Amino acid sequence: MTDTLAELAWQVSALCAETGPDAFFPEQGVTARDARSVCMGCNVRTECLNYALDNNEQFGIWGGLTERERRHIRRSNE
Ligand code: SF4
Repeated sequence: MTDTLAELAWQVSALCAETGPDAFFPEQGVTARDARSVCMGCNVRTECLNYALDNNEQFGIWGGLTERERRHIRRSNE
């Protein structure tokens, strides 16, 4: 398995793959509550959040966190 495939292996267990992407990319002003609820039950939440932080994902809910929350983590790690 290449590094890239290994880095993405967690996606096979992504719970959101069973629910569809809409709740994970809410429009501005729309609550992320439904997506967060799915994330809290996901077995790969840590891997997902780390991937989003490592790749500076700008949009959507990853690992149960919004872009604003991820930006806060990135800044506090600088
Ligand atoms: S933590 Fe949330 S966004 Fe990440 S894979 Fe799991 S369900 Fe999907």
